[in-house]
Amino acid sequence: MTGITRRRLLASSALAAFFGGVRPVLAESGGSLPWRNWSGGLVAHPRGRFAPATELELADFLATTTGSIRPVGSGHSFTPLVPTDGHLVVIDRLAGLIEHDAGALQATFGAGTRLGDMGAPLEAIGQAMFNLPDIDRQTLAGATATATHGTGIEFGCLSDYVTNLRLIAPNGESFDVSREATPELFDAARVSVGALGVVTRMTLQNRGSYRLIQKTWTQKTEEVLESFDESAAQHRHFEMFPYTHSDYAGVLATDESDAPTNNPPPSPEADAAFAQIIKDLSQVPPRERLPIVNSIMGQSEPSERVDDSYKILTNVRNTRFNEMEYSVPIDAGAPCLREILKTIIDKEVDVIFPLEYRYVRRDDTWLSMSTGDEDHAAISIHRTAGEDYRPYFDLIEPIFWKYGGRPHWGKVHSLGAAELTKLYPRFRDFQEIRQSLDPQGRMLNDHLKKLFGVTA
Ligand SMILES: Cc1cc2nc3c(=O)[nH]c(=O)nc-3n(C[C@H](O)[C@H](O)[C@H](O)COP(=O)(O)OP(=O)(O)OC[C@H]3O[C@@H](n4cnc5c(N)ncnc54)[C@H](O)[C@@H]3O)c2cc1C
Repeated sequence: MTGITRRRLLASSALAAFFGGVRPVLAESGGSLPWRNWSGGLVAHPRGRFAPATELELADFLATTTGSIRPVGSGHSFTPLVPTDGHLVVIDRLAGLIEHDAGALQATFGAGTRLGDMGAPLEAIGQAMFNLPDIDRQTLAGATATATHGTGIEFGCLSDYVTNLRLIAPNGESFDVSREATPELFDAARVSVGALGVVTRMTLQNRGSYRLIQKTWTQKTEEVLESFDESAAQHRHFEMFPYTHSDYAGVLATDESDAPTNNPPPSPEADAAFAQIIKDLSQVPPRERLPIVNSIMGQSEPSERVDDSYKILTNVRNTRFNEMEYSVPIDAGAPCLREILKTIIDKEVDVIFPLEYRYVRRDDTWLSMSTGDEDHAAISIHRTAGEDYRPYFDLIEPIFWKYGGRPHWGKVHSLGAAELTKLYPRFRDFQEIRQSLDPQGRMLNDHLKKLFGVTA
């Protein structure tokens, strides 16, 4: 089925090839053009799009109009947080570095800035973000609104690094929000799912620029899991992508380094070879895949790359997919992952896409998946876009519940207000702030009504 050359290619670029690199579908501007999210699974027909050039324009729009509003980032959420038949508010024009504090290593950006457009200007002022998620196409406001995170036991989600933000409430009133000036609103607005108003600028706590070396290899999942805590403590970032119907996982360990740059772009040849392997594997019944996948993974070769931190921490994802991710308390991570992998084998789930397993540090925002006293393990499952993800995700979701999981706000889940109130100690406090800022429910679409238990 697969030649050794192809397997070697796979070895050097397995993960990159799986997720690969194309530009995301962005919300089109103007009129009644349909809006689609990145995976293509969500479509909306907004009445209009409003793309303010200034915060004043936005405040005026909110103060002088009525009807539903949904702020949109770059549409990378898998959950219907954005769809509305009212107005989309697009803050693409409120983007770029606004000001910075060289002493405190803080920088203020327009909240519509893509994460991928922040690394270079930060580097120019000697700063860098502490951590980044898998990709960098999200906007700063969109990413923080759902508590987007990377991996690393020492690092909280992106919202944990926000020191100040500006929020324009649904009535047009502007709030400068910080821990010191408005502590409750600060803890609510750093992860808001766009329910409190429109965030226009954010200040981040950064650090001095740094470089990273990332080592990638394949190893038996169980071996990695048994020493995951030690590995997570030893490396700045550590994560794995367990392969389905296999005993193996792709493993990534990332540390600071002064080594010279060595970061070749993913090879198109490797991408094509890997796509062929996936195609071939999909012809094999799930129950017969384990020895084949094990044989391919067992022969793969390690690789490493070195570059500026922001060029190593994020990747390009070529293959569009839908995703479910839950964060479970860290001690529940390993048993939860084991049960999911076993269920995929036992139920012969026809899925090739790997899972993702990573640690996130606890924080004190009210709605982050890692809020509270415990660090969390974030576990993701994926299904290629175009395939029906429901049967697979419906099978696995109760396992996450069993281990006390909290769903990622931007990734597929089926929970509503009753369950979320139990999972988040400050959920009711968030609700109070939401109701006081948005008494008319302008910011609510059907999905948010379900999240917040609003029936009217
Ligand atoms: C390929 C891929 C990889 C991903 N990798 C990761 C990962 O590694 N880690 C992780 O945690 N997540 C990851 N995600 C999920 C993604 O980071 C989140 O769904 C994120 O919220 C998307 O940001 P966005 O800019 O596309 O926002 P959108 O999806 O457009 O919007 C998300 C939310 O932000 C709100 N919002 C947007 N702009 C504003 C604003 N100005 N003011 C107030 N609210 C606003 C929206 O109303 C909505 O509620 C990934 C998603 C994809 C598709």
